[in-house]
This record gives sequence, structure tokens and C-alpha cells, in this order.
Amino acid sequence: MKYLEEFGDPALAGRLLEQIRATTTRPWAIMEVCGGQTHSLIRHGIDQLLPAGVEMIHGPGCPVCVTPLEIIDRALEIASRPGVIFCSFGDMLRVPGSGRDLFQVKSTGADVRVVYSPLDALTIARRNPEREVVFFGIGFETTAPANAMTVYQARRQGIRNFSLLVSHVLVPPAIAAIMESPTCRVQAFLAAGHVCSVMGTGQYPDLVRRYRVPIVVTGFEPLDLLEGIRRTVAQLEAGRHELDNAYPRAVPAEGNPAAVAMLREVFAVTDRSWRGIGMIPASGWRLADAYQDLDAELRFAVSDVHTAESTECRSGEVLQGLIKPHECAAFGGRCTPRTPLGATMVSAEGACAAYYRYRRLSPPTTSRPAWDATAPRTAHV
Ligand code: SF4
Repeated sequence: MKYLEEFGDPALAGRLLEQIRATTTRPWAIMEVCGGQTHSLIRHGIDQLLPAGVEMIHGPGCPVCVTPLEIIDRALEIASRPGVIFCSFGDMLRVPGSGRDLFQVKSTGADVRVVYSPLDALTIARRNPEREVVFFGIGFETTAPANAMTVYQARRQGIRNFSLLVSHVLVPPAIAAIMESPTCRVQAFLAAGHVCSVMGTGQYPDLVRRYRVPIVVTGFEPLDLLEGIRRTVAQLEAGRHELDNAYPRAVPAEGNPAAVAMLREVFAVTDRSWRGIGMIPASGWRLADAYQDLDAELRFAVSDVHTAESTECRSGEVLQGLIKPHECAAFGGRCTPRTPLGATMVSAEGACAAYYRYRRLSPPTTSRPAWDATAPRTAHV
């Protein structure tokens, strides 16, 4: 398939790995920001093929994982109300709130529907004028333009029974928060290519300068990831810190101006809580003042629903790269994709789910030197 098969070529992958091995002289810790990149790294075993000192830290870029528990509880509260049709992408239905999930609410008779686009929810609202239709709008800069367009269309078409439950978060403030954490181990970032395809690369030079950290815009296929890692290691070894775009086939420097204009029209920047991380200033979007009558949180008065995170789940440490999923005591025992304790196990992009699915069930058991530039990692068992 065009743009997939040629970016998974094993011979080219081997050559890139050789170049990474030849360049690497000491250990480096690189964070891939996006959960899609995490899954691709684990699925293809790329992290195990890297020189042993090159560590990939799995960042907070899974939208389901970072959606705070209290937002899930607010969604459950709204979905339970009589007369509501609650619409969501399918991956949110299994995410546990503090007591139940949207599937369980649906099983008690609530009208919860899986849709494939927020515009589907708008169509449902048009066809059911006597009902309140809510779309659960979560995610990063990638999903936000379609949600913004839907709100814009609802206003234009005068559809008053539609509203959006908003929980959008932004990548650059998360990178800043990670770099300012006293426990930060990250020395370079692979930036998420799809986010940059919307927003462009203009937000990153300031982060590069401020934190003296290389940022390489990277795609999702095996060769994309290896090329991103190769360029990152080259910068680290040379003592450089620059913004580099290793995904130019999808990311123009200016991003998608039409999408950015729509985002600026409908959303305003706000402080947001990130699951497991906490409040990050100016790290998300809310509906702009002109569209607040379409905000489901205000329409259903659920802003006072607050929930404490589980003390057993260590997803916050996973999302900050402080532990690997199999270092959590609950991993694979009390917490599996069938019985998830936290969002990083339930989400298809979550690091815990990736480690479970691809059988990284325990940390490596073989003893080996802490640093060996020539050898690939030992496979986890
Ligand atoms: S394995 Fe489960 S309990 Fe542990 S951090 Fe991951 S989601 Fe949380």
C-alpha cells in the first residue's frame, strides 16, 4: 500500500539501524510524544533493536490516556440524563470513570452512540430536534479541527440542541512541563508528525532554544521512526539542539492554515488538567466566549463533578516516562485490557496496552552491561 509498505522496508530499516549504531557513543533518553508512535515502536520491536543505551521514553501523547477522570465522570453524568443522546468515538466507551464506563451507562438504558465523525453527531441532532445531542470532544491538535468545524456548523445552521463536551489538550505546553519537571530524564523529543501537519512547526523553535533540547518532527511507520531517531541521536552526539523535520511528506512548516483558522475561531486557550500529570497552564482549549452556549459542561452544569485518581494506578509515572508499564505492580495481573485500572491500559494508544499486547510482560531478566553501543537490546519476555 502506497506510503505504508515502502516505509516498512526491512533492508532500509537495517541500514538506518546501522547508522544509529555507528553514531551512538553514549546513552541517550529520547521521548516519543505520541501514543501512535509508542505503539509502532513496540509493535515493530524498534526499541529493542536500538543500541542498548538509547532509551525510548513513552510520552503523554495518547489522547484517551491524558483525559482526566473527572471529565469521564462528567461525560457519564451527562449521558445518564433523560433525553440526552451522547455521542463519542468508540475508544472512549470502555474508559473507566471512578465507578463505571459509558458501556455500562448504555446498558442501563442511556442513549450512548458510537460515531465516526463529530459531524455525524450534528446530523443526529438535526434529526432529533426534541433531544439534546452531546459529542465528547477529546484529544490533541489532531482531532480538534473537526470538532471546531462541527461547532461552527452548528452555529451556522442554527442547531441549538447540539453541544460539545470539550477536553482538548496541546502538545507544546506538555513538552515544556516535562522539561521543567525536577525528575525529567528526557534529552530529546520525537514530535508527533500528525500534530505538526495541523499546527505547523512554528511553536517548537522557542522550546528548542529555551530547553536546549533537540526536537525532530517524526512520522509513524518504522522507517519514519528510525529516521527520526537517527537524526535525533546525530544532534545529541554533536551537542546540537535544533528543530528538524523528518516528516516533510506530511508536515509543511506552516501546517494547515485553514484548520488553524477554524481552531482560532472556535477555541480559546485555557489551563487543563492532564491525567496523571495534573494542571498544566495554558495547555488546552475551551470553547471561545462566542460559542460558550454550545459548551456541554455549562449546559448540563457538571463543572462541579470532581474525582480523585486511583492511588493504585501509576499511569501518571508512565505518562511522564518515570517508569515502564511492566514496572507497575498491577500490570498484567489486576490490570489488563479486559480489566483496566487506568486509561493507559484501556486505550489502543496507551503505553500499558502496547506493552501488554506485544508481550512486554516483564522487565528484561538477563544481566548485561549498562551500556553497549553495538548490541541491540535483549528481547523482553
Ligand atoms: S498497568 Fe494498569 S494500573 Fe499500572 S499504570 Fe498501567 S494502567 Fe495503571
